Amino acid sequence: MSFVVPEGLPRRQAQVLNCLIDEGRAMTFKELMEALRGVGLTSDGQVFKLLKALKERGLVQRIETLLAYVACRPCPPGEAAGYAICDDCRTIWRFTLPQEAVTRVADSRGFTTGGLTLELHGSCVDCGGGLPEGLGQGSELEFVAGFDARPVAGFEGDE
Ligand SMILES: [Zn+2]
Repeated sequence: MSFVVPEGLPRRQAQVLNCLIDEGRAMTFKELMEALRGVGLTSDGQVFKLLKALKERGLVQRIETLLAYVACRPCPPGEAAGYAICDDCRTIWRFTLPQEAVTRVADSRGFTTGGLTLELHGSCVDCGGGLPEGLGQGSELEFVAGFDARPVAGFEGDE
C-alpha cells in the first residue's frame, strides 16, 4: 500500500486501518476479526462500528462482490470510485470517474442516487496476455490490494 494512517485518527480506527494496510489485500470481516484479536479487538459490533467510521472517512472501502474490505485513499469530491478485480490473480485496482458520468442516465429520469457500487471483474494485463500495442501509457488504475496471498474465505459468498 502506498499510503499511511492519517495523523489524529482515533487509536482503534488506526488499528483497523493498519491491519488492512499491513495485509495489503482485501480481507473479509472474519479475517479482520482474527487479525485484530492480537490488539485486543474481539467484539464484532465494535469492529463493525470502526469499519463504518473508516468508510465514512473514505479510508476503507467494502468490495461488495468479494464481501471484503480494503484500505484506500479518500475519493476526490464529485468522483466515484470503481474497482477492477482480476479474477485470476485477485489483485484489485481502483479508478475514479466523475460521479455524474455514471449516474446521469438514471438521474435524468428522476432517480435519486443514494449510493454507487462499481466493481469490474475480469483479467488484469498480466493474466490476460498483455496490452495491445500502443496502449498502457498514462494508466489511471491505482493498485489497491493484492488478493493472492492465500485462498480467501468469503470469496464465494459466505461471511
Ligand atoms: Zn491478474
